[in-house]
Amino acid sequence: MFDSLSDRLGGVFDRLRGRGALTEGDVRTAMREVRVALLEADVALPVARKFVDDVTEKAIGHNVLRSVTPGQQVVKIVNDALVEMLGADASELDLNVSPPAIVMMVGLQGSGKTTTTAKIARRLKGRDGKKVMMASLDVNRPNAQEQLATLGTQVEVATLPIIPGQQPVDIARRALQAAKLQGFDVLMLDTAGRLHVDQALMDEMKAVADIARPQEILLVVDSLTGQDAVNVAQNFSDQVPLTGVVLTRMDGDARGGAALSMRAVTGKPIKFAGTGEKLDALEAFHPARVAGRILGMGDVVSLVERAAESIQQEDAERMASRMAKGQFDLNDLRSQLSQMRRMGGLGALAGMMPGMKKAQGALQQAGGDKVLTHMDAVISSMTAKERAKPELINAKRKIRIAKGSGTTVQEVNKLLKMHQEMATAMKRIKKMGGIKGMMAMLG
Ligand code: GDP
Repeated sequence: MFDSLSDRLGGVFDRLRGRGALTEGDVRTAMREVRVALLEADVALPVARKFVDDVTEKAIGHNVLRSVTPGQQVVKIVNDALVEMLGADASELDLNVSPPAIVMMVGLQGSGKTTTTAKIARRLKGRDGKKVMMASLDVNRPNAQEQLATLGTQVEVATLPIIPGQQPVDIARRALQAAKLQGFDVLMLDTAGRLHVDQALMDEMKAVADIARPQEILLVVDSLTGQDAVNVAQNFSDQVPLTGVVLTRMDGDARGGAALSMRAVTGKPIKFAGTGEKLDALEAFHPARVAGRILGMGDVVSLVERAAESIQQEDAERMASRMAKGQFDLNDLRSQLSQMRRMGGLGALAGMMPGMKKAQGALQQAGGDKVLTHMDAVISSMTAKERAKPELINAKRKIRIAKGSGTTVQEVNKLLKMHQEMATAMKRIKKMGGIKGMMAMLG
């Protein structure tokens, strides 16, 4: 997600931060580079232009250039503008009505609508403890209803029994009644998709919306389609009162243009991001966190949340307090590595950890998750002293550690370098006033 943009911006900002003083010309040059980076990430032209104009205006005014850390200030202004562009406040689903709350899912065929329906149902059930029912109104695509029923079994969420031949509006009526009678908190309606936006589809959606009066109408779009995703959202939004957008396949989207322009162009918030085929691969979309990820500050909050789901509370607290103090030795790295394995491996954590982005590429190249096992072996071959004070590890010790772990000195070096990068990131967080301070800065 946002990898190339993140790399490009990282380069621009490293150069800015590297200077003591900044001139207006420096800022303008940097902003031209930011503009190119945004356009290469497939951000809509007017959105990129406005972004750069806003940031430039703020950055050359307000005594920013005369401040003690002008580079840092400019990055903060970019961060704030990015959060704004992504939609400022995080908005999750608003299901605060007398049950059943209705969530209607709309979108083109193949966008990931049915999968996303099941993902959201799973989340509502597991995280929020809601009693959820799903119903497929898709009578066009063969087996669409069966597909949802299968997914329902997988996530252990009830689905409306299928009556062959029944039409969408009638299915919606029946689903409403069943949800009411059986005391469901949330009813999710998965509507039919089409290959293109067409009037028959829109009319059917409107008819269903009239009957169901949904609290949320979520449009599912494929982020890989870039600006097309934004156009599709615009089209749907003209016809039905969308409450939000879910962007799927963010796992494969290195550019991020749809995510970056969606809010500015359509005015609709992105509520969730689909990040994989598995049914737990869904993330709430928090603009401040995403901006943090793009700017390479790491998405510490999501990371800690994810961690909290799979590790013991004490571990998490110990880790958080060490991070807050800017401490990070090889014992910490080791416990992070084993947590990473438990949390679904490297892919799942891409870019979330501060300073991990660069290390990530190297890790994937080196063989992905297998490498985690090697790294663990390397750390295990160190003495307790070495783990606590990695600077002790000289060439001779490296040879011993490589032998002991059945790896090579090169691998030991790689691990130490990765640790160094992470430790530096932790120190940076501390400088910004710890995680809390960083979050405050991120808005
Ligand atoms: P629908 O026609 O819109 O209902 O699409 P489906 O829900 O059947 O999804 C189409 C394909 O996209 C399936 O193979 C899904 O597993 C896949 N898919 C859905 N969401 C994601 C996602 O976020 N990431 C990835 N990689 N694949 C996804």
